Amino acid sequence: MRWSVTIGSVGGTAVKIHITFILFLAWIAFSAWSRGGPAAAVDSTLFIVLLFACVVLHEFGHITAARRYGIATPEVTLLPIGGVASLQRLPSEPAQELVVALAGPAVNLIIGLVLIAVVGSIRPDELTQIDNPHLSLLGRLAIANIFLVVFNLIPAFPMDGGRVLHALLAMRVGATRATEIAARIGQALAFGFGFLGLFGNPLLLFIAIFVYIAAAGEAQMSAAHEALKGVTVGEAMETRFTPVSIDASLGQAVDALLATAQHEFPVVDAFGKPAGLLTRDDILSALREHGRDEPAAGFMRSGVESVRAGTPVEGLFERLQDPKASALYVTDAGGKIIGLLTRHALGEVMMIRAAQPDWRFDRRA
Ligand code: ZN
Repeated sequence: MRWSVTIGSVGGTAVKIHITFILFLAWIAFSAWSRGGPAAAVDSTLFIVLLFACVVLHEFGHITAARRYGIATPEVTLLPIGGVASLQRLPSEPAQELVVALAGPAVNLIIGLVLIAVVGSIRPDELTQIDNPHLSLLGRLAIANIFLVVFNLIPAFPMDGGRVLHALLAMRVGATRATEIAARIGQALAFGFGFLGLFGNPLLLFIAIFVYIAAAGEAQMSAAHEALKGVTVGEAMETRFTPVSIDASLGQAVDALLATAQHEFPVVDAFGKPAGLLTRDDILSALREHGRDEPAAGFMRSGVESVRAGTPVEGLFERLQDPKASALYVTDAGGKIIGLLTRHALGEVMMIRAAQPDWRFDRRA
């Protein structure tokens, strides 16, 4: 995310703070100072910093669970509305999705219970007094963590409860139908919040808008899956592409960039097998520091997956959303590259299906 400062890195995940969060802290400190002097400013700022530390730990709950299933998370960013962990992809198995979704709120539940044990006890009537200055800092923090658990378990995207609902539905009716149902429940809840918000709490109105937008996004995702249903890799792949030879120079890669409309160039060995992928961005960033005679293969990315022409594209959609892998190789039985499956190509499949829903993609590879 732009306009954010990296404050450290934990287990391969960069922890970043968005500039708006720093402004938010300054605003909290300033408004507390003007109400209660320097002591209040320190107290309020400390509370917010600790609260957001709990939010970061919540995100690391998701991140740690996702890592167990081989999903990396390059960064987590703190915004005034909370933390955003950018998981490389969502788990495709409903059981894994359930574990990853629950791991975040579970962290806050543990923190909340530990804090209550430390503070002694919290009376039920104190649960609504998070802004009561007579309550200890730790007491307020305990209440905030319990609030985070409850809030996140609301069964609507983008809250974790929405993911939990989706995973449970997917176990019964399949992922696509589960997304449709979960999105509809989310939108219904959004209307409910909006209605309640109109008669009192403006915060509910804000949540309503937030939930409605997220539910619409999920519905769109499900429409994308619907459009890709039944289409194979061989039918969607790009077959007219220019590869870059493994011993090509940077100058030759630039020539290929100019001669074609491609943004992704497979780097192939003498047998036509893919060795890596060179994107337009890779070529351009290499050019900032290197001359035309530098070997192009030094700048290619490895770890791009190969798929076979008969594979359904539906399951590959999420994988292509990863900014680091905008293309997959399509290879034959001998490992030779016969096509490229790109995000761009999937976009075209969706456009064709939107224009003619029953279009049969009976291309020969
Ligand atoms: Zn969460």
